Amino acid sequence: MTTSARALRTLVVQVTRKYSSTADKVHYKVVVAGGGAGGCAVAARVSRALGPGNVAVIEPAKYHYYQPLWTLVGAGIKTVAQTARPMKDVLPKKCDHHTEAVAEFDPENNSVTLGNGKKLSYDYLVVALGIQIDLNKVEGLIDALDNDPLVGSIYLPDTAEKTFSALQKFKGGDAVFTFPNTPIKCAGAPQKIMYLADEFWRKQGVRDKAEINYFTSLGKMFGVEKYAASLREIVKRKNIKVNFRTSLKAVDHIKKTVTIELLDSESGEVQTHDYDFLHVAPPMSAPDPLKNAPPTFVDSAGFLDVNQLTMQHKTYPNVFGLGDGSNIPTAKTAAAVGAQNKILFNSLQQVMKGVTPNGQYDGYTACPLVVSYHTCIMAEFDFSCEPLETFPVNQAKARRSMYYMKKNVFPEIYWNLLLKGHWSGNKVFRKALHLGMSK
Ligand code: FAD
Repeated sequence: MTTSARALRTLVVQVTRKYSSTADKVHYKVVVAGGGAGGCAVAARVSRALGPGNVAVIEPAKYHYYQPLWTLVGAGIKTVAQTARPMKDVLPKKCDHHTEAVAEFDPENNSVTLGNGKKLSYDYLVVALGIQIDLNKVEGLIDALDNDPLVGSIYLPDTAEKTFSALQKFKGGDAVFTFPNTPIKCAGAPQKIMYLADEFWRKQGVRDKAEINYFTSLGKMFGVEKYAASLREIVKRKNIKVNFRTSLKAVDHIKKTVTIELLDSESGEVQTHDYDFLHVAPPMSAPDPLKNAPPTFVDSAGFLDVNQLTMQHKTYPNVFGLGDGSNIPTAKTAAAVGAQNKILFNSLQQVMKGVTPNGQYDGYTACPLVVSYHTCIMAEFDFSCEPLETFPVNQAKARRSMYYMKKNVFPEIYWNLLLKGHWSGNKVFRKALHLGMSK
């Protein structure tokens, strides 16, 4: 055999091994379910520590999105394409990538079953499936999103750009924004898009022909009083009518009405409200494979049941979880994942060494509340809803600097540091900027 034929044969064998290994392999030291913000960050750290062939990521999506920018997509500031990268370019190269979704968890037997019936077993499992969007829980919503050009939602890539097109088409009348009666990721986003819409319509000269109604299941503008106080001023100044303790039940895009449930009414009273423009933050819930998992695996709502300090599972010591799909009692954000991923990694390493995890996650989470096309209130807080601010300024004040952090700096941190397993949260900067005197 000639040298070139031998080289070609070696190459074919290597390529065949590389591709058949992912397809054939059924056991991994670590399996990571979900390759979003949390899954990707943890997979990067773990695969760097363990090397190739030891870590699998199960992730069916073709694209990885930087979801926090979808709010700006809805306002025409960014495009969806600017928030997306092919999943294969984002997931760590040292991991095997399985592209079938997780269908079932079997923690008693240390295995997961994929959508094609294949089982993967593991020594350690990390669950990072995010939260599921349940459009079907609002009667008529899918139909309205598909057929009414003035109905949008920044919560899905397909409808985020449509939201901006709807903003442009609105020429006055009733504008309705909703916040669902379920857990939700980035609980600030339903009102951020409303403030951007208000400003957009002012610039277009249609705001004085419009009434804006915000229907929210919550009893206040925001969970942290310091920021809620600023937001109350903003809705007052913008002349937005806030309807607390209400929830969207149905949309009729032919009649252009929404049905709103009054949550504090004992008789389950509903009201009908006209709309000319509608933005919906849809109901959300734990992903189906978690809801259908054994009750020892999840809490009563179906979220992965983990220790909030260490991210280790409460029943299965070789299982860990983070992010929106877990029951860590803090606001579900990428910023929270930024702090959680390193703590989870430390816990996993401790368990591998036979040591009890001693992590102390403080619940750090952040919500950059964009309140105009150039300003933002930077809400940062902990488990007890106490502010935990990075910068030595009053972050309840809407600032230009914070808007540029949100629009320009955070995406860079996300793609270049968090997803590559090099971001452990803001604590070190917070401490430095407060001369060591912050928590
Ligand atoms: P995700 O990043 O959602 O990843 C979950 C992954 O699991 C996905 O890739 C999905 O494809 C995969 N998956 C799902 N089901 C399965 C299955 N059965 N098998 C295998 N894989 C599966 N955060 C901020 O910090 N700041 C903000 O300003 C902000 N704004 C936001 C605005 C909007 C409109 C939205 C939608 C989100 C916003 N967020 C914000 C929230 C942030 O994007 C999420 O909290 C973060 O992405 C959570 O990370 P995660 O890994 O838990 O879930």
